[in-house]
Amino acid sequence: MIVTRAHTKKVLAGTLALGGSDYISIQTMWKKPLTAVTPELLTGIEHLRQLGCELLRFAVPDIGTSEIFGALCSRTSMPLVADIHFDYRIALRVLDFPVAKLRINPGNIGAPWKVEEVVRKAKDKNVPIRIGVNHGSLPKNLSGEKNHSLAMVWAAEMEMEILHSLDFQNAVFSLKSSDLRTTVNANLLFAEKYDYPLHVGVTEAGPLIPGIVKNTLALNSLLSIGIGNTIRISLSDSEEHEIITCREVLGALGLRGGGITIVSCPKCGRTGFDTGEFLREISEDLYRLPGPLKVAIMGCAVNGPGEAKDADAGITGAGDKVILFKRGEIVKTTDRKNAREEFLSLLKEL
Ligand code: SF4
Repeated sequence: MIVTRAHTKKVLAGTLALGGSDYISIQTMWKKPLTAVTPELLTGIEHLRQLGCELLRFAVPDIGTSEIFGALCSRTSMPLVADIHFDYRIALRVLDFPVAKLRINPGNIGAPWKVEEVVRKAKDKNVPIRIGVNHGSLPKNLSGEKNHSLAMVWAAEMEMEILHSLDFQNAVFSLKSSDLRTTVNANLLFAEKYDYPLHVGVTEAGPLIPGIVKNTLALNSLLSIGIGNTIRISLSDSEEHEIITCREVLGALGLRGGGITIVSCPKCGRTGFDTGEFLREISEDLYRLPGPLKVAIMGCAVNGPGEAKDADAGITGAGDKVILFKRGEIVKTTDRKNAREEFLSLLKEL
């Protein structure tokens, strides 16, 4: 699929460009409270980077957390976004640190002068702001509007007016709802009128399966016509699954190449190897490998190697053994308990 991306301004979130090109970046949000900068936290961030995370957002709910967030900004090269609600003073404090981007929800920051103070300081520090409009937290004067998508665009326009009055254009917008049609329509309406980069995704999309379905459908509607510059797939699940889903969506739409392609058998009465269990053991390792690489995880020796002969590497079960193959040729038979290690070692060779 050849997609011409809608022209947008380019905004720099730390070292990461949002908009202004065909590149669509992947982001997620840290899911635990930020209480200290620990080695585990830094390792966790690095782990997300290896999976493909390019921008990471943290909730910063109070001034105390803003100090920890500030310290974290200096300890990682991952561009970090501070997510701030209600209290504009937190945003002002965060801007004293090397934060890559601020996310504020205009519906709950309060009086326009508070937003203005944040914007002035962000301008001074050259930090972009994402105006994140959520259908669930529209400003009071718009919450009764029947056309939800339109109300979201109006909410974005109210904030845009403040930004423009301060000659601030270093902004990304998002218009999100937990309803995919409302999300898609709001983004279509916005993109028709404005050239700000868009962060797209369905918010509060639910647990893994419904969340993936809703986000994939919404992102397909937008990305396939060139709308959307950075994506987050909100799931009631792990950051890792959000990142992997983003990668799969971009790969399936032909908007990002070079990654890992996994072919795996759905299992049937012939299955001698639990492919689902093996994939749970190994999939994060697979997504950390540099691509392009096609792997096949097959359930039986009858059809497995044949069905997966165009894969770079494959594994299939045979009793309590597994067979490893490379480009359709068997290279080794080993015990099931060694399967993960041996398969990763074969992939690393490739
Ligand atoms: S690879 Fe084997 S176990 Fe898997 S679906 Fe095909 S025939 Fe069934």
